[in-house]
Formats: sequence, structure tokens, C-alpha cells
Amino acid sequence: MESWLQTFWYQGAAPPWWLRPLSWLFGSVVRLRRNAYRRGWLPSGRPACPVIVIGNISVGGTGKTPLTIWLANELHSFGLRVGVVLRGYGRTATGPLLLEDRTGAAQAGDEAVLIRRRTHCLVAVGSDRRAAARLLEQAGAQLIIADDGLQHLALQRDVEIAVIDGERGFGNGRLLPAGPLREPVSRLGSVALLVQNGGEALCDPRALRMRLAGDELLPVSERLAPMPLAQLAGHAAHAVAAIGNPQRFFATLRAAGLSVREHVFPDHHRFSATELQFGDALPVLITEKDAVKCQAFALPQHWYLPVTAQFTANERQTLLGRVFMDARLLDILACPVCKGPLQYERAQSLLVCRTDRLAFPIREGIPVMLEEEARQLSGDDPLLGR
Ligand code: ZN
Repeated sequence: MESWLQTFWYQGAAPPWWLRPLSWLFGSVVRLRRNAYRRGWLPSGRPACPVIVIGNISVGGTGKTPLTIWLANELHSFGLRVGVVLRGYGRTATGPLLLEDRTGAAQAGDEAVLIRRRTHCLVAVGSDRRAAARLLEQAGAQLIIADDGLQHLALQRDVEIAVIDGERGFGNGRLLPAGPLREPVSRLGSVALLVQNGGEALCDPRALRMRLAGDELLPVSERLAPMPLAQLAGHAAHAVAAIGNPQRFFATLRAAGLSVREHVFPDHHRFSATELQFGDALPVLITEKDAVKCQAFALPQHWYLPVTAQFTANERQTLLGRVFMDARLLDILACPVCKGPLQYERAQSLLVCRTDRLAFPIREGIPVMLEEEARQLSGDDPLLGR
């Protein structure tokens, strides 16, 4: 079904005439729904802490999860207690759940387990994101990142970041089901930040470029040493993917010189042991998201490829500066020395700890939370006076 749809979403075929009224109907529902939330006819709520939404307007994988992991780790490095909330696709239950160390993909979904593993953050899942966000707040989160929440309007937000698939763009530009869009392209005009994942030309001149880098294979279950992906150049391997855009994974492997035998499964598919065995000794390469579901039955020939989001220094600065400003994060930072509260001095772009008499600079919107970068204030400094 999905592959049939993709022939006209992305490959230039004309969609059948009868799909167009369905897209028109879908668009009307999207508009009505947005309007209903805006006017308060549908209930929405705001957690006490800032909310940053990372989402997209098209169907399928665009790189939201690597960006969520990157942003969560960046904000954590400023001493913030970050919570991540997501739907938890592929799980059996739907109620809100706070992940613990031993929570598996069957209870929480593959993406949630992956995010928890790659960050130091609290992670909660639930089809009701507001209820899941409450669990994060109760557990001590100071700010919440919602992975894939652009259309989940019941959760009010401070910052919206939209991720664009740089290779597939917006497809034929039509709404579902005639096209791949969940909302019209004009929706991007109202988000704070656009991030484009891969691709040559920018789909939107405002977009920041994100690169997904991964060149080291890790064993799925065995305690083997990592293997450079380049070591398999010129060799054949099975590549298995149950993600939104499997072609991206295969293309990465081909770019590294592998001869790829493709095996595509639906997004969030739960693998059985036999689905990863092909009756030969070739290496079987899977994505990181799939790896969290396959540890129990993985063999020594099973490897996964972790990918990490990367930005240039300038684009990192732009992205974080915007997030700090829009999400009011300067107000909730704590002193890295004494963990006490900081006073934000907007006029001088400083964060002041009265206990330690330290003034931390804010450079281009980003606080520098390092003791060696802070200025020692004298006891009679006016910054300490109020
Ligand atoms: Zn302090």
C-alpha cells in the first residue's frame, strides 16, 4: 500500500483522480482542528516547564529522533534536567509510561528506548502527550522535548522545530493521501526553526543543515569490538530496515562501498529471530532503532549503525540561541558551581550567582556555564545589590 502511494508521492506519477477529494477533505479537517485548538474548543494544556516540539509536516522518517537526541544532550550539558516525551509507536499499551532502565521496546516502543539509551534524559511515552509530560515533570524534568509533536496540539509549546527530509523534500507537495504531507507547506512559516536533514539544495532558505554521521558498526548483542563501516567496503551484506525511510539507510551503506541486499519491513516492525537470518554467513546490518528490539536473539553477524546529528559551529549557535531565547531557558539554569539559582541580567547578558559572586557570560544567546569563563564579582558590585 505504502509503496504504491510512494510512486506518486515521490516518483512523479499522477495520483488517481479519486484521491484528490480525499486530500481536500483531509486538509479541511487539519484546518478545522487547528482552529478548534486555537479558539479553545478542543482542550489543550501547558506543563509548568518549557516545551520544545520537534516534528515534521510529512509522513515517514525525516531525522527527528537524531535531532531530539542531539538537542537533549546539548541542553543536558548546560546542567538542565531534560525530559523527552513521545507517542511510543510500536508499543502494546497506550497509557502514559515513564521509562526505567529495564523498560524494553515492547512496553515503550523502539524510539523511546533508543532515546533513553543515547541520552541522560527522562523519557516518557503515551498517546496523550500531556499526561506523559506530567510524568516527566513529576520526575523532575525542567524542560520537555516532544519528539514528533508538531500536530499534537493538545500539548502547548514554546518552540517548534520542523525537520525536513532534504532528499525527498515535500514530494508532490500534496496533502495525504494524494501526497505525503500531514499539513500544508505553509505551516512551516509559523515554526521557530527549520532543520534540513541531508540533500543538496535547501528546500527552504531559512533551514539549518543537519548531517547524520555514522561510520562505525556496533554488535547488536555480542560483546565484540566495534567495526569500522569502511572495513566492509567492496563486500556484500544484508541490510534490514524497519524505519520510515529505509532507502536512506541503504544509501548510506552503498556510499560506504558495500554491496547491499535490501530487506524492508514496515516502520516499528517487531522482528522475529528468523527474519534476521538469511542462510548465509554475510554480515546483517540493521539500524540503531531496530537494534533495540533484536538484542535477545542477535547473532555475532548482526551489526547496527548508530548515527549522530551534526551541525556546523555557526548553525549550532543559531539553533541553540533560538531555543534558549524562545523556551525561556535562561531563567531556569542553575549555577554549575553551587547548583543554586542564577539571576538573569538581560541588559548585560549575564547570569549571576550571588552565592559564589560569579557572573556567567551569555554569548550570542547561549550561556557559557563554565567557572573559568565566569567573572568574579567584588562584594560591592551593583549586580549583587538587588
Ligand atoms: Zn553558585
